[in-house]
Amino acid sequence: MPVKPYIPICGEDYPLTDKQRHLLQVAYTLGRDRFAERAPQLDRDAQFPFANYADLRAHGLLALCVPEAHGGMGADYATYAMVSAEIGRWCGATALTFNMHVCTMMWSGLLSEDLDMTPEQRALHQVHQQAHFARVVNDGAIYAQPFSEGGAAASGAQPFGTLAVKTEGGWLVNGKKIFASLSDAADFFGVLCTEKKTDTDLSRRDTLYLAVPRDAKGVTIEGDWDPLGMRATVSRNLIFKDVFVPNDAALMPQGIYFQAASRWPHMFMTLSPTYMGIAQAAYDFTVAYLRGEVAGTGPVKRRQFATKQIAVAEMFIKLEQTRNLFLRAIEDAKIDPPKSSRLRAYAAQYTIMENAQDIARLAIRTCGGQSMLKSLPLERLYRDARCGSLMLPWTAELCLDRLGREALYEPGEKDE
Ligand SMILES: Cc1cc2nc3c(=O)[nH]c(=O)nc-3n(C[C@H](O)[C@H](O)[C@H](O)COP(=O)(O)OP(=O)(O)OC[C@H]3O[C@@H](n4cnc5c(N)ncnc54)[C@H](O)[C@@H]3O)c2cc1C
Repeated sequence: MPVKPYIPICGEDYPLTDKQRHLLQVAYTLGRDRFAERAPQLDRDAQFPFANYADLRAHGLLALCVPEAHGGMGADYATYAMVSAEIGRWCGATALTFNMHVCTMMWSGLLSEDLDMTPEQRALHQVHQQAHFARVVNDGAIYAQPFSEGGAAASGAQPFGTLAVKTEGGWLVNGKKIFASLSDAADFFGVLCTEKKTDTDLSRRDTLYLAVPRDAKGVTIEGDWDPLGMRATVSRNLIFKDVFVPNDAALMPQGIYFQAASRWPHMFMTLSPTYMGIAQAAYDFTVAYLRGEVAGTGPVKRRQFATKQIAVAEMFIKLEQTRNLFLRAIEDAKIDPPKSSRLRAYAAQYTIMENAQDIARLAIRTCGGQSMLKSLPLERLYRDARCGSLMLPWTAELCLDRLGREALYEPGEKDE
């Protein structure tokens, strides 16, 4: 495809700060010039994008959400979301895994600043933050976010089955996580687990968030990885067998994750920017293809047919609906948002995840048979887009579930 003028994911007239404009341009340029050409092979062979991570590291983007005081870029939520979407335009798996890493820093960093802590918790958390942030800034370390266990815990319905027992100087962790993106690459796994106390039942209030080093004794990475889409995320299973982690492994103080999950709902919307990027890419491909500009497909223009024009119009409407909800929802992100913002976040996540796959579907239908050849990116976009609405805790189904319930019931309200 010929090089097009750069239009940021938010549109060229969206009010960006100079810092945002710069970061979005860096992400876009890396994606266009490097990630895009690597993506087909990584997808075909289900290999982690190590070279893309080397580029992200070299450009400081692994420290995107590390506070400036700790040597990072200090990006806020909306900036992260737009940068991630720029990457998603070129390599979905890189954007999705980037989410796991960057949001670990965001949750431990700017999000934690908003939460209530005792002065002692706050002081200790600052010591722990220092250790995590320094690893990323100085050593280029990568953090993963393996929460899923195959049961009801990742949806927030019950306590995590991975358990941590307090021991001298730290914790002993036992359990299993499935779908651990970055399983081939992470230096640390940010594991959500439940503190097992001797005197009480397991409780979601006792959720711990611990960074388990990849090379800790008792950590095993197992299972095949051969999925439909997002193949380069390499999301294999993790087994923890009597894994000792020291106290300073905590990414949040005891009990604080539960508070975050209740008060900072947009923390669960951070996977959607990847799919905003995929939706944009599917639309961009379709326009270029119909204009006869896609390399390797012959200079045959198909834009003159009225049916193609209507299909593109339909795709554009869906894309703009998606983008506008995305931009509004990422601006809303904050602690204790009003009900309207919380409901909008569910609606945004649902819309982005469902529309990304619908736009990719329309793209293939509109461009036709040749467009789904493996030599072109569209069939990968179509497969990658399919995974978005399956991501817990805010799957498309669970967004509907929460929206319906929270629209009809105020907190604490019950039917007799
Ligand atoms: C490419 C890819 C990468 C991933 N990377 C990660 C990762 O890095 N870290 C991580 O933690 N997870 C990751 N996941 C896992 C993902 O977030 C989900 O946990 C996983 O897809 C759930 O699969 P499951 O078959 O266990 O679904 P189930 O839990 O069986 O859910 C199936 C469906 O049932 C519905 N459902 C589930 N629970 C409830 C409930 N309590 N009430 C009502 N409906 C419910 C949901 O709509 C869900 O889509 C990844 C998944 C994919 C596909």
